[in-house]
Amino acid sequence: MQLANFAEGKWIQSNEGARELRSAITGDVIATASTSGLDFKMMLDYGRRVGGPNLRRITFHERAHMLKALAKYLMERKDALYELSYETGATKKDSWIDIDGGISTVFVFSSKGRRELPDDQVYIDGTVEQISRTGTFLGQHVCTSLQGCAIHINAFNFPVWGMLEKLAPTLLAGVPAIVKPASSTSYLTEAVFKLMVESGILPDGTIQLICGSVGDLLDHVTCQDVISFTGSATTAQKLNQHPAVVKNATRFIAETDSLNSSILGPDAAPGSPEFDLFVKEVVREMTIKAGQKCTAIRRAIVPADYTGDVIDALKARLAKITIGNPRDESVRMGALASQGQRRDVKEKIEELAGENEIVFGDLAAFDVVGADRDKGAFLPPVLFHCDNPYDKTMAHHVEPFGPVSTVMPYKDFDAALQIANMGEGSLVASLFTHDGDVARRAVLGAGAYHGRMMILDRTSAAESTGHGSPLPHLVHGGPGRAGGGEEMGGIRGVMHYMQRTAIQGSPNVLTSVTKKWVKGATEIKGPEHPFRRYFEDLEIGETLISAEREVTLEDVEKFAEFTGDKFYAHMIEEAAAANPFFDGRVAHGYLVLSFAAGLFVEPDPGPVLANYGLDNLRFMQPTYPGDTMKVRLTVKQKTPRNEEYGEVRWDVEVTNQDGETAAAYDLLTMNAMQG
Ligand code: NAP
Repeated sequence: MQLANFAEGKWIQSNEGARELRSAITGDVIATASTSGLDFKMMLDYGRRVGGPNLRRITFHERAHMLKALAKYLMERKDALYELSYETGATKKDSWIDIDGGISTVFVFSSKGRRELPDDQVYIDGTVEQISRTGTFLGQHVCTSLQGCAIHINAFNFPVWGMLEKLAPTLLAGVPAIVKPASSTSYLTEAVFKLMVESGILPDGTIQLICGSVGDLLDHVTCQDVISFTGSATTAQKLNQHPAVVKNATRFIAETDSLNSSILGPDAAPGSPEFDLFVKEVVREMTIKAGQKCTAIRRAIVPADYTGDVIDALKARLAKITIGNPRDESVRMGALASQGQRRDVKEKIEELAGENEIVFGDLAAFDVVGADRDKGAFLPPVLFHCDNPYDKTMAHHVEPFGPVSTVMPYKDFDAALQIANMGEGSLVASLFTHDGDVARRAVLGAGAYHGRMMILDRTSAAESTGHGSPLPHLVHGGPGRAGGGEEMGGIRGVMHYMQRTAIQGSPNVLTSVTKKWVKGATEIKGPEHPFRRYFEDLEIGETLISAEREVTLEDVEKFAEFTGDKFYAHMIEEAAAANPFFDGRVAHGYLVLSFAAGLFVEPDPGPVLANYGLDNLRFMQPTYPGDTMKVRLTVKQKTPRNEEYGEVRWDVEVTNQDGETAAAYDLLTMNAMQG
């Protein structure tokens, strides 16, 4: 199989200088990859010239729908991918993480895009900043799509997830991408990529693929491009220091090595549920994907008194792991991705063995089921014991990217956190404890060194997603040797591909830019009551000024009686007057809201389907019996939900007879579309 590159909308293959890619199971050549003949400068240019405008033309919601269609398309065709995935050494379970996990990530970004982003091209970041006395000159941060290309350089361990977890937020942001998978497993990435192209769902120019060397690609990056790299710290440093990257301050997101740790809490004695959960998790993290996970537990930090029990329990479980051809159903752990990878892990194991004792795993004698032990890239799980993690520090620095972990004892919990932090920054740390104080101490003492912390106990274990699973909702990344980057984290991940700009201007200017009405902007009088208008017809700024209504003492008493809310400030004159906020009895805030609704609601059946809630409610002035109130109701923002209805956000202001604001809030309604 000669892998193809996808450049400037065309599949391009070459044999010149091709690299041979071998099966992790049999060692046979299964594909060749070459990028000879690619014009990398033109690829960037094509992405910027064709892909970028095609994506920026459509809204976040349209991009989110596109992602959903793509995820569905891949889901329906994923079965064909498992067979190829075996060749990477992955078991069926490993492939689920890679293939199904990748597709699910696209689904999550699609759903978040529709729920958390506007149906627009401008993302509003935060609230309006009042920077002038009367509010005629305001500030608002917004984010818009970068106008370059994203270059995704991925690691070999998750050829599908690694591509999709980066593509989903990038495309949602409106930025085209050039994907460069790690060569050794790029045949699987290419197979998925072919499906994506064949689907015809993505607009022209939005994705391109490089299987092999990137040539002079980085020479041509600009300030509008983003490089998102996953791999070793050495490569990250090299690429980050590329002259064009430095000169143009090109964004560089790095996810690199990580000596992740898991701590057994001081309360988790042998026999406790947390002890058992810890043992299970360490073994799982050592063996899933043959330990080739950037998030795998490399250091198991345990109370000194329990070290022997932990090692015995881990050994007992590890002894049950069957290694071999992942097509064999009895196999729990497949092969490493390549012979090169196996060599690398063996070297790292030798380094660690200089300082630490191997308590499980024999590189010279282990069984392999259904495959030749030496032709495939097989290794047994190897467990080390480091008896002094302060002086013997190698296990904090050497990352064997395979089924290897080291048990380390701690004396007290502060020492455990110190040991965890000796990894100098990691993607994830986990803690197994049933003690809330221990959990808080861990976050305060180690949070700064970790991108994610999973704190597990008996109550959350059954639904836990596990130490090693990055989730699209949560940030994936970490400080220090983890690369200092951050990916995913919901909409945070989309923002890596957008530029934040502070916009200054009048309320009308901000309303025009953001399509969200800003107080002080023009109030439009509509042709009829806004509740009679369909979603499509309502204009941003369309305003209803209600009639007036006096609030009487009798109203307050009736409301108190009816609702049972007889709080003294509404009922007892002297007690209310003694309160620093009031001069005497005040109307209930909820009464004011209810009267406000009574003033602006149009009662007949019509396009308004439901009241969906209130946001940002503030009572700014007390409403006293005898006050007269009126309401301004303005269409602030519209967000379609589906083909039948959309959410309308109304800016509501209740004022008194002196023009003072008594209450202000956003009202949300679901409004029918005319269709
Ligand atoms: P690597 O050698 O740094 O390779 C990573 C990627 O960089 C591959 O796609 C590789 O392509 C590419 N690359 C290498 N040199 C390049 C250059 N000069 N210009 C452009 N691209 C270049 O890393 P690895 O050894 O394959 O991966 C294992 C490491 O990745 C481990 O340390 C692991 O911890 C880390 N990792 C981190 C995460 C995370 O999310 N933090 C996830 C997975 C893995 P070729 O394959 O074609 O050389």
